[in-house]
Amino acid sequence: MGRYLTLDDVEVAGKRVLVRADLNVPISSGSVEDDFRIRASLPTISRLREAGATVVVCSHLGRPKDREPEFRMGPVAVRLAEIGGFPVRRLDSVVGEEVEVSVAAAGPGDVLLLENTRFEPGETRNDADLAKGLAALADLFVLDAFGSAHRAHASTVGVADYLRSVAGPLLVEEVEAFASLLVDPPHPFTVVLGGAKVSDKLGVIKSLLPKVDMMLIGGGMCFTLLRAEGYEIGSSLVEEDRLDEVKEVLASAFGDRVDLPDDIVVADRFAADAEQEVVARNAIPDDWMGLDIGPKTAEVFAAAIRGSRAVFWNGPMGVFEWEQFRSGTEAVARALIDHPGFTVVGGGDSVAALRMLGLEREVSHLSTGGGAGLEMLEGKTLPGLAALERWADGS
Ligand code: ADP
Ligand code: MG
Repeated sequence: MGRYLTLDDVEVAGKRVLVRADLNVPISSGSVEDDFRIRASLPTISRLREAGATVVVCSHLGRPKDREPEFRMGPVAVRLAEIGGFPVRRLDSVVGEEVEVSVAAAGPGDVLLLENTRFEPGETRNDADLAKGLAALADLFVLDAFGSAHRAHASTVGVADYLRSVAGPLLVEEVEAFASLLVDPPHPFTVVLGGAKVSDKLGVIKSLLPKVDMMLIGGGMCFTLLRAEGYEIGSSLVEEDRLDEVKEVLASAFGDRVDLPDDIVVADRFAADAEQEVVARNAIPDDWMGLDIGPKTAEVFAAAIRGSRAVFWNGPMGVFEWEQFRSGTEAVARALIDHPGFTVVGGGDSVAALRMLGLEREVSHLSTGGGAGLEMLEGKTLPGLAALERWADGS
């Protein structure tokens, strides 16, 4: 899992502390649409403030190509100040003299928010000059952005080459939650996967199958698996180029741990108000598409989840954004909060679905990271964590 120092190992009073948080939230018409990640980052920022640090926060936001105004951090600063109950000083750049002057002028307990790190072309290239520029702003670096820790960018990995670095409390909590699924999870251990693309999740399917008791697969991705098993899937989502790989997985020693839907909610087109029908998986009409798991499957999946002691869920069972196709996701979500064991939910849309249903508080661990959690479960070392290791070795 790697070793790293944490905030418990360092003194922060009177220090300038750079926090790489994951404040990558959906923005719509100039305000934050879902503040889950801001709320998750807040305890770390508050703790540093209260301990007398000058807190310099940075994050990326979306995928800007240039410095488009809709990707500026303004709405994030506003929401952070609102829920934090402290002033947040928003800066217009990520690095440079103006930023340095503002940080130097700030004092203990002040919170500053840098501009979108991806406004710097060096961010995703992990450019050394940008990393040095960030390092120059502080006495200590706190990596708290679990959701970005699988990316070797200047603000997640590069900066740790030039500045003493520790893992933030949110990062630690996330890493420990995923580690407990990887290392000796309680059984039955059930994994529930859905979402749009099987290609996103094939790695995790392969690495987790030997460790789980059951893998329940719904969502758009299940149609590539059903197709691989020889079913006609109408115009449902399918990734033809993954069929051979999927067939291999299903034919492998652990292939029978995969449970696919028996019934499907099909629609005559991809629309919220489409005509819909429930059909058996061997009776999907030509030109119709599967947009949710059927009620019988929802019940089977829910019962399996209720009987498990550990569950990992990533990816909705259907197009939950549209009410007609939400039942499967809702059934899984309700079973998750009912089952007595340990539950980890990852993935932006899965967490959004739980929040939409008002169930987010009931889950043992709601992850801020989709890709990062999947990579951990694939057994990969997150570059962000690897970068912290040398500081734990005392260098
Ligand atoms: P997460 O963000 O939780 O990892 P993904 O991003 O992989 O999940 O997938 C979520 C998306 O998958 C949702 O927008 C949902 O509408 C879509 N989806 C789920 N089931 C289907 C389906 N049967 N057909 C098309 N899209 C689907
Ligand atoms: Mg998603």
